[in-house]
Amino acid sequence: MLKPAVFFDRDGVLNQEAGYIKRLEDLLLMPNAAAAVRSLNDRQIFCCMVSNQAGAARGYYPHAHIDALHKRLSKLLADRAAAHLDAMYYCPSLSQPEGGIDPELTYYSTWRKPNPGMLVAAAWEHDLDLRRSFMIGDKATDIDLAHNAGCRGVLVKSGYGESVLAGSYQHTVEPNFIASDIAEAVNWILEVGFCD
Ligand SMILES: [Mg+2]
Repeated sequence: MLKPAVFFDRDGVLNQEAGYIKRLEDLLLMPNAAAAVRSLNDRQIFCCMVSNQAGAARGYYPHAHIDALHKRLSKLLADRAAAHLDAMYYCPSLSQPEGGIDPELTYYSTWRKPNPGMLVAAAWEHDLDLRRSFMIGDKATDIDLAHNAGCRGVLVKSGYGESVLAGSYQHTVEPNFIASDIAEAVNWILEVGFCD
């Protein structure tokens, strides 16, 4: 039996957008993020982070730093509202034309958003039904990912969301819903429900 999921972008959705986060303590939760994830946990909805993390590929910090950031994110969610993510996926690689310099991490990957690789992997590993799932993000690439993977996309105005809507960052997108933040996005998803 396949189950639906809610996929979350990381920066600008779960935690505050702060560029490449070089110090662990600069990773700070979005207001209401923990409560929003918790409301899905309470309904046994699979919660999954999917994030492009090219900082190590760009040589800004070691690969292990990304895992440390995600450990902190998990701890903050737990401490704030006893919330948890059921899985966390990220794409550490970056192609050379896009700015990859670390020899280990410089390659083209189908995991890099808006390619659907992370969602496809999550669906295989956790028996997820992408058609009944949602992707919440603040960039055009998040909404493109949603459409490429066959789920519904919710654009939040936090992070880069306002700039995407204004057409001043990336290209404009047609999300299934526009929310002010993660809390409103999750409320809308719960209202719509997880049908086809
Ligand atoms: Mg983001």
